[in-house]
Amino acid sequence: MQIAVIGAGAAGLVVGRRLVEDMPGADFTIFERTDSVGGTWVYTEEQFKDKYGLPIHSSMYKSLRTNLPKETMEYFGFPYDKTHEGISYLNAADIVRYLEQFAKHFELIEKIKFNHHVTSVMPLPNNRWRITVTDLPKDSEKQCEFDAIFVCNGHLHCPNHIKIEGQDVFSGFQLHSHHYRKPEPYTDKNVLVIGSGPSGTDLSVELSTVAQNVYLSHHDPTMDQIVFPEKVTKKPDVLRLNNDSVDFVDGSTSDIDAILYCTGYKMNMPFLTPECGLEITDHSVSPLFFHMVNINIPTMFFIGLVNKSFLFPLFEMQAEFCTKTLNGYISLPPKEDMLKWWQAENSQVQLRQKKPHYIGNAIKEYHDFIHKFANTNIYDPVVFKIYKDSSSRKKSHFLNYRSDVYTVIDAENFRRINLDGIE
Ligand code: FAD
Repeated sequence: MQIAVIGAGAAGLVVGRRLVEDMPGADFTIFERTDSVGGTWVYTEEQFKDKYGLPIHSSMYKSLRTNLPKETMEYFGFPYDKTHEGISYLNAADIVRYLEQFAKHFELIEKIKFNHHVTSVMPLPNNRWRITVTDLPKDSEKQCEFDAIFVCNGHLHCPNHIKIEGQDVFSGFQLHSHHYRKPEPYTDKNVLVIGSGPSGTDLSVELSTVAQNVYLSHHDPTMDQIVFPEKVTKKPDVLRLNNDSVDFVDGSTSDIDAILYCTGYKMNMPFLTPECGLEITDHSVSPLFFHMVNINIPTMFFIGLVNKSFLFPLFEMQAEFCTKTLNGYISLPPKEDMLKWWQAENSQVQLRQKKPHYIGNAIKEYHDFIHKFANTNIYDPVVFKIYKDSSSRKKSHFLNYRSDVYTVIDAENFRRINLDGIE
C-alpha cells in the first residue's frame, strides 16, 4: 500500500510514526513545502512570502512560549529530553527540537520530501489518488499515485481577515497576528489589538512592554477574570475606524497609531479538488467521521482539525485510529452510519452555535471513543488533569502561569510549583 502524508508538522510526523509502528514496511512519503520539520513552530523573520513566492506558513512570533505545559504536548513514550527539566512552558525552538528528535528517532527524515509543495489531490476511478506536487527548487511538477492520503497541512496559517468600517481611511499600520514577529515596530505607539484568543491576549501583554497604550477589543465575557498589565485597557467591539482613532460600540473613542488583528485563521486546503467529495468552508471540512475520515472516500484522513484541546496527544490518537483502518485492524462503520454521526454533530454545531470541529470539554470522551473503537494507546488520567489545571491557572494567573512547573508523580497524580512563588 502506498500512502502520502501532506505536511511534516506535529500532525504529519506522528502519522509517520504510526505508519512505521502500525504498518511495518508501509511505503509512505511525507511531502513538506518548507525545508524543515516542525510546521508552524519553525520561527522565521520573513513575514509574507518565502523565496519561492509562497505565503509564509509559520505563525510564530519570536518570544512565543507555549500556552500548554510540555507534559500535555508529548507523544506516547517519547518525553522531552532532560534539558527541559524544571520548566513546563517551552519556547518554539524547544518544540522544534523535540519534533526533530522525534522525526530522527522514528527514521522519518528519509521519508520526507522537503521543498515539495502539493498543489492538487484527486481521486481516481481505480480507488487510488493522484497527487500533483511541485519540486520547488527545481520548479518542476510531477504526479504520483497513492492508495491513501493523510492531510496534515495545519489550519493556523491562513489569516481570517475581518471587515470593519473605516479600514480604508485609517492611516496607521495594520497587520494580522500571523505576520507579527517582534514588538519593536510598535514602540511608543497606541496600539489597538482586536481579538482575545491566545494570540490577542499574549501579544497585548508583549506590546505593553514597548507601546504607549494597548487597547484590547473583545466580546468575551471570561476576559473579566483576566488581569492585564496597567497599560492594557480592555475595550468592547470596534464600531468604526477613523483616520487616527477608533470608535468603540460603547460610545468611547481612543487615538490609535497601529492595529493588530488577532482574529484567528481560516481553513486553507486549495489542493483538494471538488472530486474529493468534501465541502470546505472557512472553518470546517465536511462530511468527516469523527473529524478525521472523509466519509465519501474513506481512504482520505485529516489529522488535527480539532480545536481547543491538547493537540499533540490528540494527533497521535487520531493517527493511530486512521492507520488501524488502513491495516485492517478495524473496519469503519457503513457510510450511512458515519453520515448519521456527522449529521448529529453538524446539527449540534447549528443548534448550539458551536464552532465546527470544537472538542472543548468533551476531550476525554473523544479520546475514549477512539481508544474503544480502535483499541489505541490511551493517555494517563494525569495528562487530562494537568491540562485542566493549566487551563484554570491560565485564567486565574494570566501573567504568571508560565512559571508553573508540573511533575508527573504517577498515572493519576501530579505536583505543581510556581517559580515566582505564586500559590
Ligand atoms: P502545522 O504545524 O501548521 O504544519 C503543517 C505543515 O504542512 C507545515 O510544515 C507546512 O509547511 C506543510 N504544508 C502545508 N501545506 C502544504 C502543501 N500544500 N504541500 C506540502 N506541505 C504543506 N499547540 C499546542 O499544543 N500548544 C501551544 O502552546 C500552541 N501554541 C500555538 C501558538 C501559535 C501562534 C500557533 C499558530 C499555534 C499554536 N498551537 C499550539 C497549535 C499548533 O498549531 C499545533 O500544536 C500543531 O503544531 C499543529 O501541527 P500541524 O502539523 O497540524 O500543522
